[in-house]
Amino acid sequence: MGWQDEVVQKLQQGTLRRLEWEDRFPFACHAECMGRCCRKADIVLDPWDLEVLARGLGLNTTDFVDAYAELQIEPETLWPYVRLRDVTRGPCAFLDNQGLCRVYPFRPRNCRAYPVGRRVTVTWLKNGKPDLDATYFLLNTPTTCLGPQSTRIWTLREWLEASECLDYFQRATEHLVVKSLARELKYHEWWEGPPHMLLMLFLFEPDLIREEFGITEQEVNHVELYRRRMQALQLFLTDQAARHGYFLETGNDSGAACALDLSGTAPDLLEWMLSILRGEQPDS
Ligand code: SF4
Ligand code: SF4
Repeated sequence: MGWQDEVVQKLQQGTLRRLEWEDRFPFACHAECMGRCCRKADIVLDPWDLEVLARGLGLNTTDFVDAYAELQIEPETLWPYVRLRDVTRGPCAFLDNQGLCRVYPFRPRNCRAYPVGRRVTVTWLKNGKPDLDATYFLLNTPTTCLGPQSTRIWTLREWLEASECLDYFQRATEHLVVKSLARELKYHEWWEGPPHMLLMLFLFEPDLIREEFGITEQEVNHVELYRRRMQALQLFLTDQAARHGYFLETGNDSGAACALDLSGTAPDLLEWMLSILRGEQPDS
């Protein structure tokens, strides 16, 4: 059972507490247990986490992955992802000997949100657009974590604002939409071998994209470039799936729909993706 299914089951069983925006819970980190949570934390990085961490350390994402992370492939979906290295075998590489996080201002989304979890479901509508539904819940913390014993009370809204999670959630959702599209287009059925170079480039290599295609930060800031990369990946997936005879089944009259309109004279895929990076919308 995947973690998403486990979350659904626990929410249904009531063993995880669902949180609405104004629901309250106690939490504060304690000096006595500082850093225990980071000793065996298995941290999967969103593409946005990866680039923020790399920039924070003055590295490009390739060097960051070489030094601190590893690239893996989800067995069921064949989707590539990055996780912090060695966290299952020992302390996180960013935990210092006082139990503090050395990358605290750049820490990943899951570290920020803890002890709050978030599950997003994506439903593809007839118009080829995603419909998103987010559920928030309180994770069951281990007994070694003294956070829930605090008298400091937060609402969910206060917690997510104070930990600056909301922008990270937005970026995570943009990536989730791409991943969901890959699932809907049955990427795992038609893709074989290592992930496509363009998929890896657009998911994980913003520095290389800027370098290769001459896109400066002054022209397109990091958030906007990320958004455009995810949009370009929707085009990539839709195009590649169509070449293998797979389409997004949205139930519309044509029986086949694309997340982006590929009608008309289709120029070279990379040129289309580049036009999205430059902020030019493909002609429909
Ligand atoms: S309270 Fe929990 S999350 Fe905070 S430092 Fe202690 S173990 Fe980590
Ligand atoms: S990145 Fe920081 S907060 Fe996250 S597990 Fe590592 S040390 Fe802990």
